[in-house]
Formats: sequence, C-alpha cells, structure tokens
Amino acid sequence: MASIFGHGLLGFTLSKVVDSASNKILFLLAIVSAILPDFDIIAFKFGIPYSHPLGHRGFTHSILFAIIWAIVIALVFGKNRKRIFGIVIFLSTVSHGLLDALTTGGKGVGFFIPFDNSRYFFPNRVIQVSPIGIKQFFSEWGMRVILSELKYIAIPCCIILITLFILKKTK
Ligand SMILES: [Zn+2]
Repeated sequence: MASIFGHGLLGFTLSKVVDSASNKILFLLAIVSAILPDFDIIAFKFGIPYSHPLGHRGFTHSILFAIIWAIVIALVFGKNRKRIFGIVIFLSTVSHGLLDALTTGGKGVGFFIPFDNSRYFFPNRVIQVSPIGIKQFFSEWGMRVILSELKYIAIPCCIILITLFILKKTK
C-alpha cells in the first residue's frame, strides 16, 4: 500500500473534483473508501496467503469490488444524488489499487479478480511501499515513504485542490 494518508488524500481530492456541492458525508465516505481495500490485511491473520484471490491486494483491490461498494454506498447514503455518490465512491475505491500498482513493494494488484487472478503493477513504480505497522512507519523507511508520497500524491493533490478553490472564488 501507499500509506493511509496518501490513499485518503486522493479519495478526498477525487470527491472535491467530482462533487461540486462538496457534500461533507460524501468526502468522508470517499476518504474511507480510498483506505478500505487494505482491510484485507486481516486475511494474513486467517492464514490466507498474499497471492490468494482473497489475500492482500486481492479482491478488495479489484474493479468489481469498487463497483459493488459504490452501488451499496450510493443506495444507502446517496438519497437524491445517488449517481454522484456512486461515481465518487467508485473512483476513490479504485484509486486505492491504482496507487498500490505504482508502489515499489509487495505483490501486484488483482484488478480483475474474480475473472483473472493475476496481479498487476504499472511499468513505472515510483511510490515507496508503506510499512504495514505503525512502528516501522516512524523510521527511515517511513521518511522515504513520506517523501515519495509528497512528490507523487500530496503535491499533485494540493495543486488540484488549490486550483479548485481559486476557481470557486473567482466564479
Ligand atoms: Zn492496498
């Protein structure tokens, strides 16, 4: 994974870009959805291996999971804005796997599970993989993660958010 901060920030940015009404519940849900796929690390506790379709970076990182999750959230929380909710939640959930496929470590992402159990990376893997435990996060490894996420996630997201803010003000 990228860190939960990187994933969460991208989810937040996507909700701001897509939802011009800036619904607060929606951006919270977008942040949660961008982090959610990594709850599959509990698979390790149940002895499910990494490369299993239900293992880490497996089904919860797939496109199908993002679609199902987006539909559920849109139906439960979307009220009269189900389509916007669905789009934002789909994009934030799927963004998780896309970021993971840019990381330097672990196994690839199972985008097409259950139809194809292969794991995929992008050709350019530029984001330092994040440690799973808190302790390792506050280490030299953690520093490298923070620097690479600043460069490839935080700064681009901030540029987009600031641009949106300025556009809104000048309207
Ligand atoms: Zn992940």
